[in-house]
Amino acid sequence: MSKIAYLECTKCGERFSAETPQNVCPNDAGVLFVRYDLSSIRGTFTPEKLAGREASLWRYREVLPDIAPVSLGEGFTPLVASREFHGVSIKDEGLNPTGSFKARGAAAAVSAARSLGIKKIAVPSAGNAGGAVSAYAAAAGMEAHVFMPSDVPRANRIECEVYGARVTLVQGNISDCARVVNERKHKEGWFDLSTLKEPYRVEGKKTMAYELYEQLQGELPEAVIFPSGGGVGVIGMWKAFDEMEELGWLPENGRRPRMIAVQAAGCAPIQKAWKERKASVEMWNESSTIAAGLRVPKPYGDYLVLDILRRSQGAAIAVTDEEIRDAVRDWARGEGIFAAPEGAASLAAYRKLRRKSGPAEPVLGENDRVVLFNTGSGLKYLDTMEEQKLPADRHIGGLIGPY
Ligand SMILES: [Zn+2]
Repeated sequence: MSKIAYLECTKCGERFSAETPQNVCPNDAGVLFVRYDLSSIRGTFTPEKLAGREASLWRYREVLPDIAPVSLGEGFTPLVASREFHGVSIKDEGLNPTGSFKARGAAAAVSAARSLGIKKIAVPSAGNAGGAVSAYAAAAGMEAHVFMPSDVPRANRIECEVYGARVTLVQGNISDCARVVNERKHKEGWFDLSTLKEPYRVEGKKTMAYELYEQLQGELPEAVIFPSGGGVGVIGMWKAFDEMEELGWLPENGRRPRMIAVQAAGCAPIQKAWKERKASVEMWNESSTIAAGLRVPKPYGDYLVLDILRRSQGAAIAVTDEEIRDAVRDWARGEGIFAAPEGAASLAAYRKLRRKSGPAEPVLGENDRVVLFNTGSGLKYLDTMEEQKLPADRHIGGLIGPY
């Protein structure tokens, strides 16, 4: 693993030590990024070095912190060729421990917290992050406090409790949960593991881009479609592309995938800001969507996500719950992948972008190579699915069914 050179504020650029626990920049509350001395391993850390390594995100140890991993086998998920669309692949993050891509961030953040001697962590969660943090905290022997909206999908709450986390349900959305964590953390002695309020969740998430590089033999796709609530997937992958450029894996100023952030129409602050060409988002009021993980009314890393969308010539797009429902069903029936509503939003977005031809929207051609991320397993949303009458055309074969 690489020794961390320093932590760097993404707003003012000030550097901080990684030897002590850090949350956000004390000057401007900017997100802190982990920086390594990549020039020292340029030429020696090559893609060929990865052959035969363990099938987890820790195979990229040269670009991860030099800490003892708390691992449950996260990462190195399959990249499945779409059966419906030529040139499209689905990165199935639902196969991670705890059933979502949140395992990556939780593994890295909990590992880092443990190495810094932290015993108690707290996190607000709109869904899957809570379960992931609870599982890794359990594996690390740490105390986890999880704050979730009172209408969070049942499986998300139950799994946290089963992992032994202290769960508090909060009236409101994830921003309200974050406020409670913030109010209580000092008194309770909790380390705040909120999205982008500590530097290491990004480090775990960024490995998705290293995997894409490896699984596509260095031929990155034209576009990556990623469901974005907090936006850490997009932020992490872009950081990884920066690192790959520094490592000499990608040509300097070469073509990178267009990053496309998908939001739910019922909570689309990033898409609204993108449309209005703003550099940060306004709080989204009255957020509502079946894709619980996308219900983030004011993402903390908004300025980073919007900058990446711009620099990658990407886009933000919103899809309705109805389009998400159709996508869940169609992915399950057409591809054999039972996706979380958040994940299926990728398919809904792809369908729109492939059709669209306005000058302001990036048009995805029929032959463009595109990676759609399924961020989590549909199995955690059975109550939502049933409420939504999914599958829409259920066949009931009488009292004695074909089971
Ligand atoms: Zn700063």
